[in-house]
Amino acid sequence: MKNSTFFSRLLLVALFCGGSHFLQAQSVIPVPLQMEQTEGAFVFKASQPIYTNLQGEELKLLNATVSSLKYTDNLSAVAKGHIVLEKTESNVPESAEGYTLSVTPQGIRIASRSDAGLYYGLMTVKQMSEKDGGNLRVPACLITDQPRFAYRGFMMDVSRHFRSKEFVKKQIDAMTQFKLNRLHLHLTDGAGWRIEIKKYPRLTEFAAWRPDAVWKDWWFKDNGRKYCEEGTPGAYGGYYTQDDIRELLDYAAKHHITIIPEIEMPAHSEEVLAAYPELSCSGEPYKNAEFCIGNEKTFEFLENVLTEVMELFPSEYIHIGGDEANKNPWKECPKCQQRMKDEGLKDVDELQSYAIHRMEVFLNKHGRKLLGWDEIMQGGLAPNATVMSWRGEEGGLKAVRSGHRAVMTPSEYFYLDYYQDAPISQPEAIGGYVPLEKVYSYDPVKPEMSAEEAALIYGVQANQWAEYIPTDEYYEYMMYPRLLAVAEVGWSVPERKDFADFHRRALKAVDDLSAQGYHPFPLKDEVGHRPESRQPIEHLALNKPVTYNAPFNETYKAAGDKALTDGIRGDWTYSDGRWQGFISRNRLDVTIDLGQSTEIGSIGADFMQAAGPEVFLPAEVIISVSDDGKNFKELKRETHQVSREPGFAFVNHTWTGKTSARYVRYQARSGKELGGWIFTDEIVVLPPR
Ligand SMILES: [Zn+2]
Repeated sequence: MKNSTFFSRLLLVALFCGGSHFLQAQSVIPVPLQMEQTEGAFVFKASQPIYTNLQGEELKLLNATVSSLKYTDNLSAVAKGHIVLEKTESNVPESAEGYTLSVTPQGIRIASRSDAGLYYGLMTVKQMSEKDGGNLRVPACLITDQPRFAYRGFMMDVSRHFRSKEFVKKQIDAMTQFKLNRLHLHLTDGAGWRIEIKKYPRLTEFAAWRPDAVWKDWWFKDNGRKYCEEGTPGAYGGYYTQDDIRELLDYAAKHHITIIPEIEMPAHSEEVLAAYPELSCSGEPYKNAEFCIGNEKTFEFLENVLTEVMELFPSEYIHIGGDEANKNPWKECPKCQQRMKDEGLKDVDELQSYAIHRMEVFLNKHGRKLLGWDEIMQGGLAPNATVMSWRGEEGGLKAVRSGHRAVMTPSEYFYLDYYQDAPISQPEAIGGYVPLEKVYSYDPVKPEMSAEEAALIYGVQANQWAEYIPTDEYYEYMMYPRLLAVAEVGWSVPERKDFADFHRRALKAVDDLSAQGYHPFPLKDEVGHRPESRQPIEHLALNKPVTYNAPFNETYKAAGDKALTDGIRGDWTYSDGRWQGFISRNRLDVTIDLGQSTEIGSIGADFMQAAGPEVFLPAEVIISVSDDGKNFKELKRETHQVSREPGFAFVNHTWTGKTSARYVRYQARSGKELGGWIFTDEIVVLPPR
């Protein structure tokens, strides 16, 4: 991979390109700002020299990925029949990453303000090239192109399952073809620490290794969530040495990708606190996931770690995590309580905010900026921080309204560890349902935003957590082609977006990626939405009033009181606003008033299991009817074995027979041991057949 050059890779792709020249030119992802097809094509040898007036560092950088590059200070003297890369300020897009590309039968000319723009122009040429005998052919066209957003990112979780540096480089090769420019590495988390820190060797000789390869086994089994010494038989894990990191950074820079390191704090730090328990509130290993904020040693540790991280990574931003802290231990800890008293902090949210502020001051002092998950806003946002909005969009919207930059990564659009197709047709994933079309539909700029607020939307990023993704092949399967949709959301203006057209280009890109040795999801076989969700259902209880004997959960209320009789059934995910969730007393218990005595032939409901997020099928179902709403006659009472397996399932529990009644009551409860959520979308009451 390291020695491959632009044209050797170009040739590889071209071998597998088919279709008409017209389609070839229209196969570019992300779709360019302006593109005009013209007559003919430019046909050339792969070994053909590329002339450029780039100099110095820019020339050196481009030389690393483009072979047969030749410097000249007089591009106008270059004869016809060649490829020319011209750095110029005139008649080129504003953005340094923008470019103009002109392909005529006489040659190719790419112009830009910077090497990055010229490089992206070449990426476009690469996507348009096809093999023509021993030559390459690019259809004639005129393109003016530039990105909509400066930040177009992908987050790779290398903690839950470690990925080799070769794997990371392979993904950089793909990302750069689609003009993505940020790789956020989630380097630390409870499942393993992944970066060598010279000052704290226990992080990599101990906290980077665990006795179970599969995260699920390690997390859920009895006496799990332990670490082991490097070299222990069966030890699973790994880490990047500082040399590995330098190698990755060098490789990424040559592909115009900035790597942003994430060091998690104050939570998701079980592995650190197992290795250095004195940094937790309890002072004991395997007790806490959060650093003790009352302890000065915590800050000494974090600053020492970040110092080594900053020595390695040149990125403007350092990501400090900041998500999902369990703040309860801080309420009990004398050191944390003392800190709150000393600093006049009124609650543990403000205590977290104190820690984040301190880290920001430290980073700013070293010329860096702080980036964190949206929870960093709790207790007050640090003055110069940038927010990565993952729990929906609210965090990002709040950030831009208060003058902060935001990177939008809402889970319901951009979490690539969620299912991309019908879960029943897919390998187990953590839950959710984010098909390609959903990813593609996202727009981070909202109509209600002012121009100033919209300008603070720094860009977009897909996050691919890896709890449920043990292998490299499966990681790529979840990544592609959805990452291509993220690339187009980040680069292309909404006016140029069209899902049907993107889908056609994505099908071709999937073939290209497969030919390059990747393992994308076979988009052509996509099953699509849950059949039941595609049209409303007619039934006897439609629009009839529902009494909740146990309340639905406010977060998953769907259409509220109307949800279970609105005729609308859910898709493959419980978070689609159609499924209604119950956690209170772990039960669903509703009574429907049909308004008058009614002939009934069946009463049923669908339930979902998504074991990752603790959504389980019911262990008991009771269906009963009544004429007066007080005295109920039981029609069906069934118990079911429930467990964490299967990871995902849909089950229908229906009574069928013949009865007549005015009131229908449906009860379903969770297993006593498992607890968790019950989700259903509609209580369907049908007449006798
Ligand atoms: Zn504490």
